Amino acid sequence: MGYLGLQSHSFGCCSSPASRWGKVSHMKELLAKVPAGLLINGEWVDSITGETYDVKNPATGEVIATMQSAGAEDAIKALDAACAVQKEWAQTPARERSEILRRAFELVTERAEEFATLMTLEMGKPLAEAHGEVKYGAEYLRWFGEEAARMNGRFGHAPDAGFPMLTRRKPVGPCLLITPWNFPLAMATRKVAPAVAAGCTMVLKSARLTPLTAQYFAQTMLDAGLPSGVLNVVSGKSASAISNPIMEDRRLRKISFTGSTPVGQKLLAKASENVLRTSMELGGNAPFIVFEDADLDAAVKGAMGAKMRNIGEACTAANRFLVHSSVIDEFSAKFAAAIVELKVGNGLDDGVTCGPMVEQDAVDHIAELVDDAVARGGRILVGGKRVEGAGYFYEPTVIVDAPIESRVFREEIFGPVAPIFPFDTEAEAVELANDTEYGLASYVFTQDPDRMYRMSDGLEFGLMGFNSGVISNAAAPFGGVKHSGMGREGAAEGIEEYTSLQYIGVKNPY
Ligand code: NAP
Repeated sequence: MGYLGLQSHSFGCCSSPASRWGKVSHMKELLAKVPAGLLINGEWVDSITGETYDVKNPATGEVIATMQSAGAEDAIKALDAACAVQKEWAQTPARERSEILRRAFELVTERAEEFATLMTLEMGKPLAEAHGEVKYGAEYLRWFGEEAARMNGRFGHAPDAGFPMLTRRKPVGPCLLITPWNFPLAMATRKVAPAVAAGCTMVLKSARLTPLTAQYFAQTMLDAGLPSGVLNVVSGKSASAISNPIMEDRRLRKISFTGSTPVGQKLLAKASENVLRTSMELGGNAPFIVFEDADLDAAVKGAMGAKMRNIGEACTAANRFLVHSSVIDEFSAKFAAAIVELKVGNGLDDGVTCGPMVEQDAVDHIAELVDDAVARGGRILVGGKRVEGAGYFYEPTVIVDAPIESRVFREEIFGPVAPIFPFDTEAEAVELANDTEYGLASYVFTQDPDRMYRMSDGLEFGLMGFNSGVISNAAAPFGGVKHSGMGREGAAEGIEEYTSLQYIGVKNPY
């Protein structure tokens, strides 16, 4: 199977600044290391469909790679491979699985520059942020490597009858893992690592827009000693052509999905046909609440992290800024002043702090939301326009005075746009915050610790940042409520998602 650099594809370089020219040959070498095929039973192979799809650099719009596109037959071959080794893999000593994950952690860390560059190339995030994702994503490998050795059950006695009771955790079985484009490495490690730790085999379907990082990660897992067939990777231009046949197959036992709520709902319906275990990490509409007693400089710093990290393309991204009326003008002015300092451009260029949107549709979507807010009376403090030229750019934007009927209040923005809304009382802040079908992340800035507890009582969200705008961590249970999904990734809970509990009642020995 060909590797990317050996194929005839082009780089986005023609209109690039001089500083990027020197990096082109390095990028060709890097792309040559990324398998373009499907990973089935430890081999990178061509698709049976004979079809391919292109991967673009969103900063330039140019094609950087051409990948094999899997179809239904490829998908079933991948599941065959996962099922063939499930029993043997489940019986592998936990220490062995743990050490494979530890080696993978070390290899991803050694290859940090390569992973970061691939992510910036295919997804657009600034290189420094891509390095942050490598560190964050690698931590799941280390964390679950440690958890693998601690997958224990319980021992007790039936309180009424006195007989011994044992519980044990067993791998749930072959899994389908579907990941989005916004965190191409971390979303894969957050699923693959606990599945490996628990003793499950798997088929990974990465996002069509960002397959390169997942392909290189899968190769890294093989390099770390993961046996053939445990991890299979089939991505392609039609997601459902891959996922449907796998989900209809009785041998599949679990689906773990990260992506949008509408697709999650479809997959939940599909999963019901085969009564699959499901983990769903879906969309968000995070409130970022600033009380009158907050340290406003700290709140602005937190807001920059919560809104602008990953160009606003994060499920945890602050979507609605709810600010006490007595400080809203001061907060808005300081926030807008910080936003103006962002440097928009190609994430590979020095000093760039805000990259492109992932594709043209995303720019169009954001422009529609901003236009809707303005049409309803919203005022732009900064930004508010597309950036003309190559690539898919939208200016980082702050909007005030838009009513809560605006689409920016109701919908997941998924871009560098920050609408600010006023509130007057704590009760009103909670009511506005909860006025959404989503329930993933929330943020509260106040210097009153009692208020922190009251807010955590009132907020219907799976995650809450207290005076902090960035809270994700491999050791934290990540997940939402309501339409943001079910299940948790990371922490001790993350491995449980890949196990089923068996209870053994033992004959009373007396
Ligand atoms: P998406 O369109 O739902 O796609 C996510 C994944 O699902 C991709 O691999 C996609 O494949 C696949 N997919 C799409 N339609 C499918 C179908 N009918 N059947 C099976 N698979 C299908 O979401 P996205 O645009 O990539 O990601 C953004 C969304 O993810 C946002 O809503 C964000 O909030 C959410 N997200 C949530 C979390 C979390 O932890 N809660 C984390 C990150 C992102 P293709 O790429 O081939 O379309």
